[in-house]
Amino acid sequence: MPPHTYDHSAPNIHNLLSSLTPHNIPHTLDLSTRKGKSNTPWSPAPPTHTPLIVFFPRTTLETSTVLKACNERRIAVTPFSGGTSFGQALGNSEGGVCVSFERMDRIVAVHEDDMDVVVQPGLGWVDLNERLEEKGLFFPVDPAPGARIGGMVRLPSSVVANEIVPGCDTYADRKQSAR
Ligand SMILES: Cc1cc2nc3c(=O)[nH]c(=O)nc-3n(C[C@H](O)[C@H](O)[C@H](O)COP(=O)(O)OP(=O)(O)OC[C@H]3O[C@@H](n4cnc5c(N)ncnc54)[C@H](O)[C@@H]3O)c2cc1C
Repeated sequence: MPPHTYDHSAPNIHNLLSSLTPHNIPHTLDLSTRKGKSNTPWSPAPPTHTPLIVFFPRTTLETSTVLKACNERRIAVTPFSGGTSFGQALGNSEGGVCVSFERMDRIVAVHEDDMDVVVQPGLGWVDLNERLEEKGLFFPVDPAPGARIGGMVRLPSSVVANEIVPGCDTYADRKQSAR
């Protein structure tokens, strides 16, 4: 397999931001926020691993738009959910950008009969349990209290059904029922 070749030059990053301006997707260039998305108490990373931009998509479409724009420009993307993972899992060693999911924290649907819940990736498992409690249900997976479903799916804490947003035109909707 050929090595990845990224282009994190200033003109390419500027071009990315310009192309996304019409989509009005929340983002920041603030250094302390950027550092906080790669260097957490649980997953420390050196300054060289700090992303250049952090995006805060609010929808799957916005997530897809960012990923597609980055893929077209060969810009590396590191997702961020709760930031509780170990071993520098959040450090973006190639520079690149971070996509942080705290603005996608809704419960979409609870199917009580199926014991099935549909959520966005930025929902914390603690918040999920607070909402499920009123229905007499319980989500039993418990990593760090700050962990969110997106990160738990990525580091398999036993959440398996998901919707995959690739960085290209082919939108892969791979939903399946999990128990
Ligand atoms: C005190 C403590 C106790 C813990 N106990 C356990 C335990 O019992 N069992 C266990 O398995 N783990 C445990 N962990 C580790 C950690 O909490 C889990 O791995 C958790 O699943 C990480 O979730 P997160 O939301 O914090 O993910 P993050 O740290 O934000 O991200 C984890 C990884 O997933 C990627 N990612 C994030 N969001 C997405 C997304 N939407 N799509 C694709 N990739 C994404 C990130 O880039 C990163 O590589 C513990 C951690 C701590 C600090």
